[in-house]
Amino acid sequence: MHEARLYQKLENNTVKCALCNHRCTIQEGKHGICGVRLNENGMLYAATYGKISSEAVDPIEKKPLFHYLPGTLSYSLGSIGCNFHCQHCQNWHISRTTFEDATLRSLSPEEGVRRALASGSASIAWTYNEPAIWHEYPLDMGTLARRKGLGTVYVTNGYITEEGLRELAPMLNAYRVDIKAFTDDFYKKVCGARLQPVLDSAVLARELGMHVETVTLVIPGLNDSKEEMESLIRWVIEHLGPATPMHFSAFHPDYKMTDRGATPGATLERICNQAKELGLRFPYVGNVYNHRYENTYCPACGATLIERQGFSSTIRKLDGQQCTDCGEKIEIVRDVPKTSS
Ligand code: SF4
Repeated sequence: MHEARLYQKLENNTVKCALCNHRCTIQEGKHGICGVRLNENGMLYAATYGKISSEAVDPIEKKPLFHYLPGTLSYSLGSIGCNFHCQHCQNWHISRTTFEDATLRSLSPEEGVRRALASGSASIAWTYNEPAIWHEYPLDMGTLARRKGLGTVYVTNGYITEEGLRELAPMLNAYRVDIKAFTDDFYKKVCGARLQPVLDSAVLARELGMHVETVTLVIPGLNDSKEEMESLIRWVIEHLGPATPMHFSAFHPDYKMTDRGATPGATLERICNQAKELGLRFPYVGNVYNHRYENTYCPACGATLIERQGFSSTIRKLDGQQCTDCGEKIEIVRDVPKTSS
């Protein structure tokens, strides 16, 4: 097994993990809340290093990332486990499974990069389950990927610590973070976590130079009030900037949350309109097929810059980072530089 980074040895063969904000103290023979970082004989091991449950070549729009290498493919990998216990998890079959029940296969960082290049992808995304708890593996693969000119993407719940995120910064380009709600109460009851560390990680990711987009799954009766959405949108504008793409996605009943219906499209549209009125440049709807708020519009003249249908996208009135109708500068990543180290 691969020894973990970012942990401290304590007395009696106990260890303390500093990778995510649970900061678990783990006794010998036990694992942390995520289920995949194990204490064996007083050493912490990353038990899923190089073990993948899922592999696919996805449009980058599926992450969703709308302002990062639009129209490209992203070689996507997932493993098992999660440090959140969301009642509405859509990937519970891998996030909540065990080593005994999971089907895992080995993939080295080098082979992952080879497969990404062979697939014609412009980036590698660690997604499907929480990538932060896999830390050492994306870190190794992403460092190699960047040397080959591939972009790198985390689709994350944002619970990584400052130490963890700073380690990733030299290799990680894009931080697609869920802000699942804007109350600590929601995070505690629904996810088994806290809100503030998520907000802190999003701010730090931006400070470290990563491209940040947020996703909020809008759940009827739980986080969809006008007041809560206003607080969230205002926070993003103030702390991440008005050009941060925000995705407001439709909830569908799943896993342990089957007591309410799907989010009406009208609710998502109302939130996007609210976001625009508050000054956000790029609000989007998600999980709704063929909606006009999937497109990217120029915030200055309204021209359709990128047209989307499901996960396919067509660049229309965008030349590099400029609207071809009015010349407005559009905050969008069109390429990533190779790193040398
Ligand atoms: S990654 Fe988080 S949940 Fe997992 S052992 Fe470390 S602190 Fe605990």
